Amino acid sequence: MLNTATAIKPRPSAIETLSSSDIEKLNEIFEPLSVEERLRLVFQYFEPTKILMTSSFGTKSAVILKLLTEVRPQHTVYFIDTTYHFQETLDYKDQLTQLLGLNIETLSPKKNENKLTKDEMWWQEHPKMCCAINKIAPLEPVKAKHQLWISGLMSYQTKFRSHLRIFEKQGDIIKFHPLIDITDETFQNYFDEFELPRHPLEGQGYGSVGCIPCTSKGVGREGRWKGRQKKECGLHPGYFINKTEAEV
Ligand code: SF4
Repeated sequence: MLNTATAIKPRPSAIETLSSSDIEKLNEIFEPLSVEERLRLVFQYFEPTKILMTSSFGTKSAVILKLLTEVRPQHTVYFIDTTYHFQETLDYKDQLTQLLGLNIETLSPKKNENKLTKDEMWWQEHPKMCCAINKIAPLEPVKAKHQLWISGLMSYQTKFRSHLRIFEKQGDIIKFHPLIDITDETFQNYFDEFELPRHPLEGQGYGSVGCIPCTSKGVGREGRWKGRQKKECGLHPGYFINKTEAEV
């Protein structure tokens, strides 16, 4: 039950000035709540049009998308078309869009830059730059118009994610991880409860699915950037703190 006496209600103009103790207070308020309550409440605390939702339509995406549509059905979901997606991912996106009535907006990298990454296969020697051009840059202008960014990260997925809390300030935006503390079992129960379709590649042994050149079969996220130290794409900038060039 939310203790409204201790609740703080950030106003759009005040986001930049949220202190670390404000973030801590938000965490204290939201931590006892269910995932559904967290999502419902965040749209009361923050201006809804300033809340950013993105999806890669990977193996874990359906649950957070379903939960979002329960709270705010027509909220825009941004999809970054890196041009390196599996056809199965694009088909899955269409399937979930129809099933959940999603309001999708597609973002694309600059054609000439994207072509360069393709011609020179930057994912091999320069994966950080490849992600910067194809994933991070297309989102930047959109990100700049928002104050809070919903993510579907869960702490059990990777060591980096295990250190995250529900709210964190990352540069000019607040990241919101409503699923962060749920178990894999709870997550799977959501799929069953909501009768959500699985990503077509999951049944073929892909625990996680991203761009074709950087995705292999494997349990969990072990198939992403396999054989490299890189484990995140850079859309979660906290990941890069204290990392060497080889790790990103
Ligand atoms: S995941 Fe791989 S192919 Fe996709 S943008 Fe990043 S480095 Fe490039």
